[in-house]
Amino acid sequence: MGEEHWSPTIDKHGKKHKISYLNKRDGIEKLNKNIDKLVTTNEKVLFFVICCLFLVTLLLQVLLTAYYAITFKVDPTPVLSITILLWPLVIGLISNGIFIGYLGQNSVRVSRAQFADIYEIAQDYSKKLDLKKTPKVYIMQYGGVLNAFATRFLFGDIIVIFSDILELAYAQGEDAVRFIIAHELAHVKRKHMSKRLILFWGLIIPVIGSAYSRACETTCDNIAAYLSDKNPVNGLLVLLAGKKLYSKVKIDTFLQEAEKEEGFWSWLSEIRSSHPNLSTRIRNVSKAKKIISGM
Ligand SMILES: [Zn+2]
Repeated sequence: MGEEHWSPTIDKHGKKHKISYLNKRDGIEKLNKNIDKLVTTNEKVLFFVICCLFLVTLLLQVLLTAYYAITFKVDPTPVLSITILLWPLVIGLISNGIFIGYLGQNSVRVSRAQFADIYEIAQDYSKKLDLKKTPKVYIMQYGGVLNAFATRFLFGDIIVIFSDILELAYAQGEDAVRFIIAHELAHVKRKHMSKRLILFWGLIIPVIGSAYSRACETTCDNIAAYLSDKNPVNGLLVLLAGKKLYSKVKIDTFLQEAEKEEGFWSWLSEIRSSHPNLSTRIRNVSKAKKIISGM
């Protein structure tokens, strides 16, 4: 872990030292460089591939519309055609707006007065990740589903943590809670939600879209391991065996068994998934810890 410079030194007259500001910037630059090292190569490569696919699709759409207009001597309306191409953006915006409207009335907004510990962690990590603004955090009951996600509406980032995963994380200890929040803030740091919206057409290509999604998840696990450096694996253990049984799981035995079961079918199940398998995630976080300890 790099040295931190978040609190500027204030002398006995209450003045901030210039050197403290420089130290803070140095600290943030170093942190950004360290975070770059934790971004998976797959994420970078697949982002480039999906951008290319998006541009090719756009170009094809314009060319086909122009061809249609010339062949059938109708009014050339490539602009209308591009609008059709962008319809997922409009539908995405409306459905997201409806969800945010629901969220505001049916879930608990984290604040200084409500779940203050979560609020403090979110503030602390947002500052460490050099985010312009701490995203709004909501806790939502969703029928036992163990999940948390980051989303974006207009220009604001939002993190939603389902109550069951938070309950479990609390039971596991603060490390697990920190890991979950850090993972979601890492999605915000890497602007994954904006990229998904823009690259919609590339992401619906089955294998490439899910491979990009998994690469983003691994990046966020790595960044979360970097921020919540004590025992990040705890944050993933809560997903493994559910509410009652997680404490009985022997992690080494689980990994050994998972390795024995590796093969074509486990590969096939993983390439369709938006998240890497839990065994892969736990191993990746352990690998990330080695990179982090060398920073
Ligand atoms: Zn994620």
